[in-house]
Amino acid sequence: MAPIDLKSPEVQIREVRLGSITGFSGTAQELVGCSHARSIREQTRSFQQSMMCASSAAFCQLSMIMDAAVVNHAPVGCAGDFPGFEVTYRIGGQERDLPPLLGRYFNSNITEADTVFGAAEKLGRVIREVYRRVRPKAIFVTTSCASGIIGDDIEGTVNDAAEELGIPVIACICEGFRSKIWTTGFDSAYHSVVRGLVKPPRKKTRKVNIINFWGSHIFEELLGRLGYEVNYILPFSSVDQLARVSESAATIQICPTLGSYFGAALEQIYGVPEIKAPPAYGLAGTDRWLRELGDVLDVRDAVEELIVEERARIEPRLAEYRRKFEGKTAYLTAGAAHGHAIIALLRELGFYVKGAAIFHHDPLYDNGDPASDALAQDVRLYGDVKNYSVCNKQEYEIINLLSRHQPDLLVARHGGMAHWGAKLGIPSFLVDDEQFGFGYQGILNYGERIEDTLDNREYLANFSAKAESPYSSWWLEQDPFCFLGDETHVEAY
Ligand code: SF4
Repeated sequence: MAPIDLKSPEVQIREVRLGSITGFSGTAQELVGCSHARSIREQTRSFQQSMMCASSAAFCQLSMIMDAAVVNHAPVGCAGDFPGFEVTYRIGGQERDLPPLLGRYFNSNITEADTVFGAAEKLGRVIREVYRRVRPKAIFVTTSCASGIIGDDIEGTVNDAAEELGIPVIACICEGFRSKIWTTGFDSAYHSVVRGLVKPPRKKTRKVNIINFWGSHIFEELLGRLGYEVNYILPFSSVDQLARVSESAATIQICPTLGSYFGAALEQIYGVPEIKAPPAYGLAGTDRWLRELGDVLDVRDAVEELIVEERARIEPRLAEYRRKFEGKTAYLTAGAAHGHAIIALLRELGFYVKGAAIFHHDPLYDNGDPASDALAQDVRLYGDVKNYSVCNKQEYEIINLLSRHQPDLLVARHGGMAHWGAKLGIPSFLVDDEQFGFGYQGILNYGERIEDTLDNREYLANFSAKAESPYSSWWLEQDPFCFLGDETHVEAY
């Protein structure tokens, strides 16, 4: 794997950098086997229904840096997801007791004429206008398919603007069509932050970087007990805070799908150690993660005490949940690393995981360490998942799979997925806070949410009785993977 290259304005896409794929059908064990043997195969779909966009993934991270502004250099349609980001940003601000927040998101409105005559000059004007209106401490420019196709000189435009305005103006190269794997957009966002904002350390601090989406803040107690402070990034951070992440004692990732690139970049370039064990989901996974954290922060004894104490605390309640859920089956659909976390949580609570539809697969992360492979850890600790597919939110596949497997529970990580289970009368819940299942308490949090979901059936019964499926019985009788084929061996990464 090539080392992190800050000279390049763009990050290599995940398909090339990590050998990641979006199409697979088989078992979890098979996928782990071929990932580790570096013989992974991409299966392409001859029919695709929907997908997310890398530009949107980049934007969702950059747009929550509180004193920065983001210009989406794109036709206005690419900004259709701004209201969703604004809702998340405002609600997240309220949850953190921040003053009322207003997103600083702008779109350069590339028109048909711009695609003929170029839109770089227009972008320069937009950047200056954004600076005049909101006086941000930094401006990021996210690119789009249109700006990529017409070949605007983004790098030259942002460099000129940075010189004139005297603040960092940073390009984030993330055109939707660059990659089939939308999480490449996270890498693009982090590349632009490391390249354009982070400064070399002046001194080391007792802060720990926590790369997270925007979930609840749960690390204060743990890190405080170990004598360290939290440093949540990127959502709700500031430009100055990000400039100093190189001074932290370590980096934690709530989800390696999100933070793989940033964690590795901070370690490679500034020597900030990244916790490489899969994030703390499930009992054994949490023990392992905490022990690595204890080694890196040099607080081994405190961590051992914590493990004994916390295990004893959750044990009685966990035993109750296990008794209650014994023999029940579950299906899940989620992004890669978080999907592996959900498998651990469900198995820990006594569910049999009938299957998983996971949005993509990274055979390894940017740290290059196979020990970070959470799916391999799941298979080792809890056994195989027989129906494991890599499916980038192709809903037609998922509804076919659910109607075939009829699990007792569906767990979905992304909005717009849980309702498919509910339409079929399957109790379903949406994981809206990725921190919710973290650590020992996270297992109980899941237990409680699942208990609620399984007990409250009246709404589900009404909803499924009235719901109309857009899919015909013909489709539900087909092989769910009949459009998945054309295996392509992915070259060694
Ligand atoms: S895929 Fe391209 S055109 Fe579509 S929203 Fe993303 S950047 Fe815009």
